[in-house]
Amino acid sequence: MIERPTTCGFCSCGCALYVEPKDGRVGAICPSANHPVSTGRLCIKGWNATPSVLGTNRLRTPLVRKGDSLEPASWEEAISLTASALKQAGPDKTGAIGSSKTTNEECYALVKLARSIIGTPNIDGACRFYDASLIRALLDTTGTPASQTDISSIADAGAILIVGANAREMSPHVASRVEDAVVENGCSVVAADPRFFALAPGAEVSLHPRPGTDLIWLRALIREIIDHRLYTDDAPAIPGFEELRVSVADATVDGLGALCGMEGAAVAEAAQTLARSKPLVVMFGLGVLQQPNSTEIVKALASVANLLGGAVVPLRGQNNAQGAADLGLANDFLPGYAPLEDSEARSVWESAWSCRLPSGPGMSAVEMIRACGSGELAALMVFGDNVALSAPSTEETVKALGKAGFLAVADLYLTETAELANVVFPASSFLEKDGTFTSIERRVQRVRKVFEPVGESRSDLEIIADLAAALGKDLARDPQAVMAEISAHVPQYEGVSYEALDKSWGRQWPLNGAAAKLTPVPVVAADRDEEYPFRLVAGRINFHQQTGTMAVRSGVLAREYPGAYAEMNEADAGKLGLRPGRPIRISSKTGALTRNLIFSDALPAGCVHVPHFFGGDSPNALASYDCDPVSGVPAYKAIPVKIEAVK
Ligand code: SF4
Repeated sequence: MIERPTTCGFCSCGCALYVEPKDGRVGAICPSANHPVSTGRLCIKGWNATPSVLGTNRLRTPLVRKGDSLEPASWEEAISLTASALKQAGPDKTGAIGSSKTTNEECYALVKLARSIIGTPNIDGACRFYDASLIRALLDTTGTPASQTDISSIADAGAILIVGANAREMSPHVASRVEDAVVENGCSVVAADPRFFALAPGAEVSLHPRPGTDLIWLRALIREIIDHRLYTDDAPAIPGFEELRVSVADATVDGLGALCGMEGAAVAEAAQTLARSKPLVVMFGLGVLQQPNSTEIVKALASVANLLGGAVVPLRGQNNAQGAADLGLANDFLPGYAPLEDSEARSVWESAWSCRLPSGPGMSAVEMIRACGSGELAALMVFGDNVALSAPSTEETVKALGKAGFLAVADLYLTETAELANVVFPASSFLEKDGTFTSIERRVQRVRKVFEPVGESRSDLEIIADLAAALGKDLARDPQAVMAEISAHVPQYEGVSYEALDKSWGRQWPLNGAAAKLTPVPVVAADRDEEYPFRLVAGRINFHQQTGTMAVRSGVLAREYPGAYAEMNEADAGKLGLRPGRPIRISSKTGALTRNLIFSDALPAGCVHVPHFFGGDSPNALASYDCDPVSGVPAYKAIPVKIEAVK
């Protein structure tokens, strides 16, 4: 067994695990018993998907497009072709999309390559497809675009509000702390989600709003808290209290049945329950973060926490979603959440990187994909994300990527995105490189190389440094040196070094002591669509991860959940003449999917649930390019759909 653990490369709980190599494969895995999160336990993905990252179908050499096919090529040819294409496109017509799965050092290096060497403003991360809406929302309310507490402390909560997050499936160690809080601490849980999920039976109050109506019932919840003076003694002094009070003055629990499909009395009870016991934790997941008005919903949830003196815990999706955002893998922020529009913040990075920076955002990930189709972008690089499946409107996205003047993709496997590329770089996995990930609790932890890279694959950091060299500039290729640069310039990472991280279980970046703010909650309409009367609920299951590039290759996970399906309740299905086990067609205005039907009591009337992802196709095919107007996160949740039997 190796002496030091590495960090799991799947969800953002950040479990520590020991991996023993044997004949170039994973011989054994052992969770760390002393790690504050894993405490001797991994979830089924940690055990079974970890070995699959070394799978037999891994890309082993660079590939270069020759006519209709991708042919093996040397690294020199692949890098030189890409550098030429970037030069030819020019900075304004070049874009780069990075991944929340890669290390902090790789995220930072890609941002530096794009902004300071290529000189393009068009740099963004795949968290634009998942959870980027929490960043501005939390900066405006708690001042910290991250969790305000650690995972272990959730077990000490007196009350927990959990909205749009099936924690058992997406963040298993968070779910186990919620259960500990209930069993050992008598914690009162208020769970809100269209579906009945595993935590809901233990919830004191279980709310099942119609998909897409969270802002409506949250306005009523906040008014209950204010009208009944359930807030803390300090709350009236929080900036924005009066504006918030006025904004919800017309909200009422009385009409929630018609608007949200749930009892208003339950919302009134939720307000009392959340105020009764302290400390309060308010957590939410992708069910919130991918709604059409996700920024406003996150602000409303943060207002609930601020009124009641609670802590916010956003449940982010990918293993390094927090670190990627911290290090500026975004079109609208510089590392450390330095705003581009702030000339002082900009000048710090202009001086660090010896470059000029734009004073506004470049294209978001969604905009870059569309710009490939329109010709507005001539070259796009995608590192570690299968955007053909993770972006919305799959058919349009694939067409747009196919029209890209030049597309370079770095990934472990020949994904649906890589198949469209002009150049494919074989990347190495988290088991084959050194670096750090930052978990959901702001814990910066070491990723340690256990294996030599598969075939000729290279880390993203090496690929980025190779590209910089081909463009005539030097970028560090030693992850430790990159972390030294990060810790020198990014306030949250001050003092982080591999030496310091080795002394303990990583290091949680400190909360900045920002004062809470309250913001008004806008009125939104509960819209209905007669032609598309159902709402799509797409959610993650424990056995798979994101687009499936890594997890779908695990034999165990594939055996447990061998194929995609759709769930509806029996009454809805009966009205449409649908039978279990038979294929149904789920169509939106944008696209369609065919799935075999399963009856499920977990689904309320008017909803269909499709799990993410089993490789090959994606419920994102049903999403349009409509995005939350503030964050640019696509509206993947609550998509209006119609359902029919496949004859
Ligand atoms: Fe832990 Fe998440 Fe990895 Fe599971 S997927 S082992 S919960 S970090």
